Amino acid sequence: MQRITILGATGSIGASTLDVLARHPDLYSVYALTAHGRVEELAEACRRHRPKRAVVGTPEAAGRLSQLLEGLGIVVEHGEQALCDVASHADTDTVMAAIVGAAGLAPTLAAARAGKKVLLANKEALVMSGQLFMDAVREHKATLLPIDSEHNAIFQSLPGTYGRNPDAAGVARILLTASGGPFLNRAVETLGDVTPDEACKHPNWIMGRKISVDSATMMNKGLEVIEAHWLFGAPAERIEVVIHPQSVIHSMVSYVDGSVLAQLGNPDMRTPIAHALAYPERIASGVAQLDLTGMAALQFYKPDFARFPCLALAFDALRAGGTAPSLLNAANEIAVQAFLDREIGFRDIDRVIANVMDAVPHGPAPSIEAVLEQDARAREAARSAISTLRG
Ligand code: NAD
Ligand code: MG
Repeated sequence: MQRITILGATGSIGASTLDVLARHPDLYSVYALTAHGRVEELAEACRRHRPKRAVVGTPEAAGRLSQLLEGLGIVVEHGEQALCDVASHADTDTVMAAIVGAAGLAPTLAAARAGKKVLLANKEALVMSGQLFMDAVREHKATLLPIDSEHNAIFQSLPGTYGRNPDAAGVARILLTASGGPFLNRAVETLGDVTPDEACKHPNWIMGRKISVDSATMMNKGLEVIEAHWLFGAPAERIEVVIHPQSVIHSMVSYVDGSVLAQLGNPDMRTPIAHALAYPERIASGVAQLDLTGMAALQFYKPDFARFPCLALAFDALRAGGTAPSLLNAANEIAVQAFLDREIGFRDIDRVIANVMDAVPHGPAPSIEAVLEQDARAREAARSAISTLRG
């Protein structure tokens, strides 16, 4: 029995994970479930999956959850320390890191430091703390498996012995596919007018609102380029973004001999989740087999950096290194929230981020404290850029 903690159990990835777990009660048990605010949904998941512990964001939410779970013997806690504790506890083997944004960093890092099997959906945590996080994984002998569909596809297309060294494995390039999001073909001059709901309407994937907006700006792909850099030890110039609107090929690896290996499947996150849960074995995920002959033609294009300035900003941050990616991530989180709250327009997102990258000096990232300090500075600079934009 693998004992699982799900950080962010009420989210889109959390729900897909619970769906896969429910198909295999003989293989997995749930140790802890966490959520920020959606107490009723968490209570429902707790009734169904009977974890030992449940964690929410505030004392008020914990009070409500305790009432809803009365008599079930589930320990209810709140706050960051409790998140770190359920992610690192001796009674859990595997941690699904599916909190959105920087809030996931501390518990995800706690899981790595406790040597857990970490299933990483929370790309922001890795983008912020890249070197420090990978060092913690190595030092504490944690197992890191990518859930992001592209990185899971790359992982599956690399040799089992891959040691984060492209040259040693004969890897020429990592080909990171991108759907291009809902605005791939929309007239650029109308992008300023798009609404949060239009931005969240992804053509192929149903996801949380933050990552949906990131997909519309292609910052999601930018964050994934940085994520791929850390996971696979590839420099920026070995990572190529390829627009593939059908989202059937989830990414590819090209080798020096001319071979290109790809992973294909229907766009459903239960596939990478099931892959990582069972790795190196395979389990059913509930995802239908790919219908190759019923499928539309597959297309591939180069990305347009003028249409998607966030992608260029992310490549710049990766090349700059140090705390630059954490500045990028923090500025993006604030700008996306402001867009979702209708405080700024869609095109202002990249303006705010570019502004923060210019205004806040970046440097080396020797500790998590240094990263968090830069994160806080970037958030402040982003808020001030937003108030300037709003006049
Ligand atoms: P979501 O918004 O649907 O869910 C987020 C979860 O995090 C919720 O359970 C929420 O309660 C929790 N949460 C939010 N703020 C929190 C805080 N401050 N403290 C503690 N918990 C908090 O998001 P999602 O789409 O499931 O994405 C989760 C992560 O997975 C993101 O990092 C995203 O980039 C990544 N990811 C998602 C998908 C997808 O298909 N949804 C694909 C690849 C990667
Ligand atoms: Mg992805």
